[in-house]
Amino acid sequence: MAQHNVSVIGPLRLVLVTAMLGLGVGTAPRDRAESAGARQTPSKEPHVVLIVLDGARPGYFKVSGIPHVRALMNRGSWFKNAFTGILESETPAGHAAISSGSEPRDDGILGFTWANDEGQKVTIFDPAVVRGGLEERLMSGAPTLAGQFHQLDPSARVVALGGYKYYANDALGGPDANVIMYYETRPNGRYAPTFIPGHVPPRSLLTQKSLSAPNAHQPLGTFDHLAMKLAIASFHTLHQQVTLINMPEFDMPLGHVDGGSRDPKDVALLMRDFDRDLASLESAYAKAGVLDRTIFVITADHGMVPIRHQVSYTEVKSAVLRAGTAIIHGNYHSGAYLWVKDKSKLAQAAANVAALQRARIQSVYYRNPDGSYQLAPRPGGQLTPTVDAANQYLLHTFSGPTGPDLVVLFDEGTVGVQPGESAWKGDHGGSDWQSQHIPLLIAGPGVRARHVSSFPARLIDISPTILALAGGSHASMRGVVLADSLQSPPPADVSTEATLRPQLDAVIGALRSESRLESKQK
Ligand SMILES: [Zn+2]
Repeated sequence: MAQHNVSVIGPLRLVLVTAMLGLGVGTAPRDRAESAGARQTPSKEPHVVLIVLDGARPGYFKVSGIPHVRALMNRGSWFKNAFTGILESETPAGHAAISSGSEPRDDGILGFTWANDEGQKVTIFDPAVVRGGLEERLMSGAPTLAGQFHQLDPSARVVALGGYKYYANDALGGPDANVIMYYETRPNGRYAPTFIPGHVPPRSLLTQKSLSAPNAHQPLGTFDHLAMKLAIASFHTLHQQVTLINMPEFDMPLGHVDGGSRDPKDVALLMRDFDRDLASLESAYAKAGVLDRTIFVITADHGMVPIRHQVSYTEVKSAVLRAGTAIIHGNYHSGAYLWVKDKSKLAQAAANVAALQRARIQSVYYRNPDGSYQLAPRPGGQLTPTVDAANQYLLHTFSGPTGPDLVVLFDEGTVGVQPGESAWKGDHGGSDWQSQHIPLLIAGPGVRARHVSSFPARLIDISPTILALAGGSHASMRGVVLADSLQSPPPADVSTEATLRPQLDAVIGALRSESRLESKQK
């Protein structure tokens, strides 16, 4: 489905390109940097700027002193019920869902780590692994925004970048992005841009002194600011059609360390810094004469839940051991995802975990041989059918050969804790509403102004909507066009959105009311 124009780049051409860029890299087969610097005339298609405020919550958009964000909201559509609509509600899965318009079961990115069908641990939480191409190989079975844009206009350039979250930036770009950059800390202690092999930027972007800073002792906001500066510098150099940006500091430190909404002062600081950077980016686009042809999307890859209770992973581990099997691999956040050795013991293991007393567990599911999930019986009251159905909707998004064997969904505000994370004040990862609920703002040509949509927009609906606005095809994506936000939506998209609506309304209604109920418990 993803289009790889491998054959058009011969070995001789690659050598020339590499020499031109003055870099000893670029021999990967998917290198598309040959188009960089070539085209001068702007094309008819709109420009796209998609910014992911990592782990940001919708409430952050209510702070004062963000006039440029506010202006975009006024001339665009705001989705007050937007949610990730996937599990795990984690960074790599969220970014892959945005760019592929597809669920984790389609694009293969379940989270940071999981176990494959042979029980071996797979991780993309390692720059060497991502640089080696694993994340893009996993994604190669799904479409991407970059790939669909190239179908529309083969000379269009797509640039993905951000801060140090290589796994986020690589997922945003995917195999077909022309340039993918991220920040690394160099041996001299400088935090500076680098790139994913096969997606080489012009050398000047890597060497500009103003795009790097010492890594140590930087005030909050420095790394987000550098990400936006890199975006603007890239636009000056490459005039790319599509810019995809990850802003890391809303998640870390603001979310995890400071508890996100628990720290209104830092929320305001990061939002106001972002507003200033957005203004600089808009002015670069205005100077280039393309601002009024630019689609802006501002969203988050997941939410952030302030932590009220922690459950030690050892409690969960012993409950599984008592069933006569062991955990091969586990992720513990506001949901716990476990891969278990002996699949014949799953029902018992799930029942043991569900029976844990002090653990504030909302529900436990185990995997059936066909990949679907079964709710484990719980002593002292069962889950309501509507919450079970909402959970099942989310669980289905990662069902498949590598889906977790056991899923533990904690009460709102409760998280599973693994070593090194016990000081965290905020987390995400599960089906809890505060992890699921995200901001989503779309503005630009063809988008309704001053529109507040109550449609439960999902991460997978973002790329289809951008493609609909740009005149591209989203047929290979699972997400739908957010037709209610378009000025002249195609009738087919209006009816698809309307057909889907009752199911999604029921999902978010159940997640919300369950969250309220659980939050009242002491
Ligand atoms: Zn994230």
